[in-house]
Formats: sequence, structure tokens, C-alpha cells
Amino acid sequence: MIKPIETIYAGSRFRSRLEARWAVFFNWLKIRYVYEPEGYELSDGTLYLPDFYLPDQDTFFEVKGVMREVDMHKIQQFREDSHKPVVIGYDDMRFDATDYWQKTDDQHAAEYEFAGQDSSVLARCKVCGKPYFMGINGSFACRCCGAYDGDGHFDIMGWGNGASDDWDFTNASEKATRARFEHGERPDEA
Ligand SMILES: [Zn+2]
Repeated sequence: MIKPIETIYAGSRFRSRLEARWAVFFNWLKIRYVYEPEGYELSDGTLYLPDFYLPDQDTFFEVKGVMREVDMHKIQQFREDSHKPVVIGYDDMRFDATDYWQKTDDQHAAEYEFAGQDSSVLARCKVCGKPYFMGINGSFACRCCGAYDGDGHFDIMGWGNGASDDWDFTNASEKATRARFEHGERPDEA
């Protein structure tokens, strides 16, 4: 078995280059993250180690170059067991976020579903200034500070399918996709 080359960035040792790219993306947007926070035993007995935890938005983030059915099953199980939002990060900084209901619609709290790349966004809260992932069919409440004002309290920075007209988002995506880690190269840190 060939051992994959570990990638070191911003003081963390990542198992894959794609994970390190997402760390670059988070750093440029000042999204705080914890890499491989802790392992969980799921209710079906399988073990699961999430890739990232984003503490400000209380959200887990799973990086997948290729999504296999067994992986998706595990992620769904974790989402159901943890009752936390989960985002799946793909190649080219595409992502799929869970719809999420908070405060305004608590009865749906257990019904997060993945929104799909075309309906997932990275929003920026106008109240606390922090970016957070969400599906556009859930509650728009800020996952960082709880602000809720219809859709008046946030801007959309970018979509899960890559569409964006926000400079910060586009810049972070470019820095991440172009990041080179070979030969000890270190991408710029924001
Ligand atoms: Zn906020």
C-alpha cells in the first residue's frame, strides 16, 4: 500500500491535499476551524472522524474528493446522531451544506437535509461579520450569532456550485485551488 504524502499547512498535518486546500480557504475568510476534532462511534456502531469542526458556526465539515455511497451513509448517520449541521467540501471549493432551522422554526430542528450544491451558500452576517454555511431552504438565522431578520442580515458570498460575485470569496477560492504544497512550498497565509 502506498502511503499518501501528508500535507503541512498553518501548523496542521493534513491527510490530503484537498483538506489542506479547504484550510487555505477557511484561513483567507477567517473561518476558524479545528482539524480532526475527535472521533465518534455512530449509533450503527461504525466509527467516524470528521475532518473539520467550525466552532463559530457549530458546524462539521467533511472533505470528499469522491463521494462513495458508504461515505455518504456515514455522513448522513453522523448528521442524524449529532443533530449538527454538516457541510461536504468537494474539489474546486464546491460544497453542499445542510439546511438548518433555528429559533424561527424549531419544529424542523431534526430535519436537516443536504441542500445540494446549487442551493448551498456561504453567507456573511452583517451583524457579527462572520461567514457561515447554510442551505437556502432552511432558516437564514446566522449560525454564529443567531441574528435573524428575514434575509436582511446577511449577504451571499458564494454558492456551493462555485458561483460568486464577491471578491473575498473568489479570492479565497483561487488561493485555495492554486495552493501548492509540494517541495515544502507554503501558500500565503491570510
Ligand atoms: Zn452573525
